[in-house]
Amino acid sequence: MSKAKLQYVCQTCAYASPKWLGKCPSCGEWNTFVEEMQAAAPRAAVRTAGPAAVPVPITEVPESQEPRISTGREELDRVLGGGLVPGSLVLVGGEPGIGKTTLLSEVCNVLARDGRTVLYVSGEESAAQIKLRAQRLGVASPHLLVLAENDLDAILSAAEQTRPQAIVIDSIQTVYTPSLPSAPGSVAQVRESTAELLRFAKGTGTAVLLVGHVTKEGQIAGPRVLEHIVDTVLYFEGDRQHAYRILRATKNRFGSTNEIGVFEMRPEGLREVPNPSAAFLSERAREAPGSAVVCALEGSRPLLVEVQALVTATVFGMPRRTASGLDYNRVVVLLAVLEKRAGLHLGSQDVYVSVAGGVTVDEPATDLGVAAAVASSLRNRPVDESVVAIGEVGLAGELRAVPQVEKRLQEAARLGFRRAVVPRHGAPEHAPDGLEAVEADSVAEALARLVT
Ligand SMILES: [Zn+2]
Repeated sequence: MSKAKLQYVCQTCAYASPKWLGKCPSCGEWNTFVEEMQAAAPRAAVRTAGPAAVPVPITEVPESQEPRISTGREELDRVLGGGLVPGSLVLVGGEPGIGKTTLLSEVCNVLARDGRTVLYVSGEESAAQIKLRAQRLGVASPHLLVLAENDLDAILSAAEQTRPQAIVIDSIQTVYTPSLPSAPGSVAQVRESTAELLRFAKGTGTAVLLVGHVTKEGQIAGPRVLEHIVDTVLYFEGDRQHAYRILRATKNRFGSTNEIGVFEMRPEGLREVPNPSAAFLSERAREAPGSAVVCALEGSRPLLVEVQALVTATVFGMPRRTASGLDYNRVVVLLAVLEKRAGLHLGSQDVYVSVAGGVTVDEPATDLGVAAAVASSLRNRPVDESVVAIGEVGLAGELRAVPQVEKRLQEAARLGFRRAVVPRHGAPEHAPDGLEAVEADSVAEALARLVT
């Protein structure tokens, strides 16, 4: 019989150490170690003489078309891969206050309205508080059951009695199983509770949705320690200061991880944004220097966004560079290429680059747009507002081909753009109606067309 052992566990990545550490050697985070009791003994692995599983020839496995449940939110359905799969375990992660609870409350409402029994478990709010928020969001259905509970055993017995088709746990970090000595929110508790819920989901065919808070402090276990247990991981991106939220799948056993869903936070709840390009460009600064429109591809979806740059003379010695919504290192490399290959003197200039609307774009095809915004701000001349810039910039200053250029041009044409500067290599044979594709070999040539 082994005794319960004390250990220190990183709450971000679950790295365990026999002594406390300031910095995690595995994930590099600071102050994330919390004292945890190791599970006293692994559950006795008793081999029961149950019916043995028999291997089946693959040709005789029946083709199963997973029946999916629509969540009533097209943007969410797309990210899930076409709807919620019964018996699946879905983790919805994001910073506190970003809209996880709002989105799942709305989903509960739709499912309950369609006559499905939904169990909403909150470890953070009382039943009365849940009702207050539900009223604000216009949620009212007798099929929606609410439970204010933290004890996993109580939650599972309630679920067994009510037999819901879907369960929402808000949040997984507040749930604890009494069989473990660690505190709620610790890695051991969060993992064990999730594993129990997985068994329940698979055993009963109930779809289980978990809310997982991502916190900077690292005092509670982050959703990352659960990613390998659950079927699907969705993360909310964006920040509370901006209205737009992007829901992205980082893991999905039932669909692609490329798709994104776009939402807008409104007082009455999360509104879907079916036409994100138009929304992201709605506040665009027209005919202002330092602004360029790029077309990024998110999964199968082209997305037009505005890149802004501000270039000003450095006051104190070292020039400053910042990038928000873009990869910082990529921007720094791009600035070096512009200096060396396009004759832009940025050595004594501060450069601030950002993507408007709080969106993050992480694609080399946006390079040319960033270069255009920087050149435009430096020369104090605007980029023509009817032009979109597409292309990856190489270290030699060449403009490199990007995937699916036709799709991007179609989106640009749909939103009324009349010209697009594209790499000559891989340029489309026919541009969509109303749009002229201007080909360029190098970033210098492209900038000559964009910033006149
Ligand atoms: Zn760690």
